[in-house]
Amino acid sequence: MKNNNNKNKQIIYLDNASATPIDKEVLKVMSESFKNDFYNSSAIFEGGLEVKNKIEENRKSIANFLGGRKEEIIFTSGATESNNLAILGVVSYAKKFFKKPHIITSSIEHASVLEVLYALERENKIELSLIGVDEKGYLDLKSLKKNLQENTVLVSIMYANNEIGRIFDLKEISKTIRHFRKNKKENNNFPYFHTDATQATNYLDMNTSRLGVDLLSMNAAKIYGPKSIGVLYKKVNVNIENILFGGNQEFGLRPGTLNPALISGLVKALEITNQVKDKEIKRLANLKSRLYLDLQKVFKKHNLEIKLNGTLENSLPNILNITIPKIPSDLLLIELSMKGIYVSEKSACKTGEKSNSHVIVAMYGKKEEKISSLRFSLGRATKKEDLSFVIKTINQILIKLKDWY
Ligand code: PMP
Repeated sequence: MKNNNNKNKQIIYLDNASATPIDKEVLKVMSESFKNDFYNSSAIFEGGLEVKNKIEENRKSIANFLGGRKEEIIFTSGATESNNLAILGVVSYAKKFFKKPHIITSSIEHASVLEVLYALERENKIELSLIGVDEKGYLDLKSLKKNLQENTVLVSIMYANNEIGRIFDLKEISKTIRHFRKNKKENNNFPYFHTDATQATNYLDMNTSRLGVDLLSMNAAKIYGPKSIGVLYKKVNVNIENILFGGNQEFGLRPGTLNPALISGLVKALEITNQVKDKEIKRLANLKSRLYLDLQKVFKKHNLEIKLNGTLENSLPNILNITIPKIPSDLLLIELSMKGIYVSEKSACKTGEKSNSHVIVAMYGKKEEKISSLRFSLGRATKKEDLSFVIKTINQILIKLKDWY
């Protein structure tokens, strides 16, 4: 349980999929860097070179973490920008080969992938194939295979979903892509394989060669690091074009002055993530299954049957998404928030939209009625006692909201 000093209220924070609190060590490293590393890293006097050297050291650490090379790491402002750069950058390059390049993606990607692709499709610049998921959120791999064609330039499939925690089997997908590439008529490197690994970084294997990915997006904001810093990993033999214009930083692919403090924060956050990964996976998976059982019990006590969106297996250890009958999720969110329990319904980027989340629609089809879902996303600070308090509070809320069911 956390004490929120501003309001003098105990807060139980269960929205770690949308933002994680900053780690103290990360803050320390960043604070030093903010103080000391103010020179522009493109300046050629000694101070500038020192800053540049620090950035290059950090670039090397990230490359090691991803099992790649230094020149494969492009710093961006976060995962939204990394996804945009990967997609728009590949399309821009692929236009040299195809009038209308074809792209494959899944129907449950984050908006920063889907919305770019929808925009390109609307402008008639690409042909787009959406691969669906079943009721449990598993990808239709057969359909992915069937949709690969000569002008497919990119397959963009996320590593782990931010709403239901579903983990996609990237190794299987990359195997399919490699097999297709080998048997193509045209001898080019297409299709490239891009993954949005934003939610996966804390918990899954991030070695790009083992995964077989060509492009990978991640950010620091979900790994107890700072906001507004991310990475696009781009394999050396993969070609993309810049989407922003200006300086020649980041190999000409991402112009703009680099922020050494944010970069050092990202690296420290990765270091800590690596250290605690195994322990946290076990701890959180236990807490998550316990929470699911207890939620089932407390709702059942009031004759309400909840439904797990997704499955406990093959899903991130920290994300639990359930459907609740009869009671609107907004009402529950507000009631919980008044008791200091912070959870969410869907991706924070889609807050305010009244319709069902696109992930829920992809799993269950388009429904007239609003499906009431809640996402609990646990984190490093989550304790067993916090979750017991959540269950106790939900019981009280259900008593209060009796008229709804
Ligand atoms: N992809 C996924 C899967 C995410 O969960 C998020 C953050 N909600 C993003 C992309 C966007 O990240 P950022 O806020 O760094 O742009």
